[in-house]
Amino acid sequence: MNSPDAPLPDSAGSAGNSASPQVPGLPGLSGLPGSAPEPAADTPVCSAKGCRADAVWVLAWNNPKLHTPERRKTWLACDEHREHLSNFLNLRGFLKDVVTLAEWENGVADRPTGD
Ligand SMILES: [Zn+2]
Repeated sequence: MNSPDAPLPDSAGSAGNSASPQVPGLPGLSGLPGSAPEPAADTPVCSAKGCRADAVWVLAWNNPKLHTPERRKTWLACDEHREHLSNFLNLRGFLKDVVTLAEWENGVADRPTGD
């Protein structure tokens, strides 16, 4: 049992020790990158880059080069970004469906989509 560097409070011989003691990284402080759990479970947010608005829309899409035909990827979109994101997918021919989040959660995904 050897502890390589145990930070002992009484510094041995370091001069100029007048600063107030700093606590190194309190757990539970927010603002540390990587420490915050993702809120994806409760509050779905818009998939647009940098947008943290609540998602209202679900864009269901499929890239035939990557996905099997029955596979559905989903993007979430707020009101503001629905058009932008659906255009993006539509231009590439990926867009399959645009439904409200409520509809999606009610099981629209299970129904076979017509044209
Ligand atoms: Zn958005």
